[in-house]
Amino acid sequence: MLALTFPGDRQTEFVDFPDPTPGPGEVVIEMKASGLCGSDLHYYRRPQGTPMSGKHQYQSGPVIAGHEPSGIIAAIGAGVPESLGRIGDRVMVHHYSGCATCNHCRVGWQQLCQEVPSRTYGNNDHGSHAPYFKVPAMTLVPLPDELSFAAGAAISCGTGTAYGALRRLGLLGTETIAIFGQGPVGLAGTQLAKAMGARVIALDISADRLARAAAFGADHVINPLEEDEIDIIKQLTHGHGADVSLDSSGSSQGRIAAIRCLRTWGKTCFVGEGGDVKIDVSSDLLRRQATVMGSWTFSTVIQSECARFIADRKVDVDAVFTDYWRLDQAEEAYKLFDTQTTGKAVFLL
Ligand SMILES: [Zn+2]
Ligand SMILES: [Zn+2]
Repeated sequence: MLALTFPGDRQTEFVDFPDPTPGPGEVVIEMKASGLCGSDLHYYRRPQGTPMSGKHQYQSGPVIAGHEPSGIIAAIGAGVPESLGRIGDRVMVHHYSGCATCNHCRVGWQQLCQEVPSRTYGNNDHGSHAPYFKVPAMTLVPLPDELSFAAGAAISCGTGTAYGALRRLGLLGTETIAIFGQGPVGLAGTQLAKAMGARVIALDISADRLARAAAFGADHVINPLEEDEIDIIKQLTHGHGADVSLDSSGSSQGRIAAIRCLRTWGKTCFVGEGGDVKIDVSSDLLRRQATVMGSWTFSTVIQSECARFIADRKVDVDAVFTDYWRLDQAEEAYKLFDTQTTGKAVFLL
C-alpha cells in the first residue's frame, strides 16, 4: 500500500509499504478518515535526516504519518474477543499503545505506560495516513453510528483533547470559562463547553478564528492584540474573573493570561504543547488559591464518553472542518495547513 511519510523540510512522500496483517491481539482497520493535526507540523517541518521525534523509535525506516484515525475493522488477529471488535465495526483508535498490562494501560491511559516507551502513531510508530492501519484491539474505541468518520477523526485527537481538559476542570453549566486560542482544539473547547451549558469567553489573535468561535456559540470574543483581555474578562464577570480557563494557544502570553483572568479559587488547564511560561508565584497563584493543571489528551474511556456525549447532544463536530482532502492531495493539504490560518482538515479515504 502507498502511505504518507514526512521526510522533513516540509516535504511529503508516498512510500510503498507491505499491507499490514494482524498478529495476536491486533486488528487492521480500513481507514475512512484520518485527520491533520497541529502536532503533525513539528514532524513535517523538522530538518531532513533527523528522526520524527525524540521518543524511542519503533521503526528504523520511514514512519507513516497521521494519528487521528477512524474507519472499519477489516481483519482480526488471533485471541481478540468479540467485545473488542468484529469485522465491519465502525471504530476510532486511542492513538497510543503501551505494555497493555501496567496500571495506567489497564485503565485506558496507554500514553502514560510505566513499563515501555509508549508508541504514538504517526510519531515513533506507523500512523493512519494510509489505506490500512494495524493497532492493538484494546486501543479501539467504538464510533457511534450517528457520527461521521471525519467526526471520529476529530474526536481521536483535537476534539477529544478539549473534552478531556473540560472533564479534568470539572466544568459546570453554572460557570464562565475563558478559552485561550481558537484553533481546532480551542474551537472544540468552545463548542463542547457550550454544549455542557457553560458561558464561554473565546480569545484569539486571529479575527477569522474569533468569527468562527462566535459562530460556534461563544458568548463573548476577545482579541488580546486589540483589547486588554484581563480587564474585559473581569468586566464580564462583575469584577471577579473567570471561574475556569483553558489554554490551547501554547503561547506564554496565553498561558499567563489564562492564570491572571481567574477569580480567586479559579482553575486553569493547559493543553497547548511546547514552550514555557513565567509565573509570579505569590500574586498569580498562592494568594489567589489558584489551581494550574495540565491535561494530555484523554483515555480510551474518556474518548468513548466524548463520542457518546457528542452523539447524544447532537454537537456538530463536522463543522470544525474547513478542508476535506483525498490522501493523494497530501502535498497541497499540508502546504495549506502549514499556514495555520485554516480550521481543521481531514483526509477522507
Ligand atoms: Zn492530533
Ligand atoms: Zn503500560
